[in-house]
Amino acid sequence: MVTQVERDDGTWYACEDCGFMLEDREDAERHEEHCDAEEPTYIQ
Ligand SMILES: [Zn+2]
Repeated sequence: MVTQVERDDGTWYACEDCGFMLEDREDAERHEEHCDAEEPTYIQ
């Protein structure tokens, strides 16, 4: 999920899964689509 973050230098969008922050909402949503941080860590 992407979270909107208000900062002095503008609005950022953070990936809740891994904490990665992006200035562009579309970039953040695109990242979130491919982010696998929400998957539990396991060893195959
Ligand atoms: Zn992420």
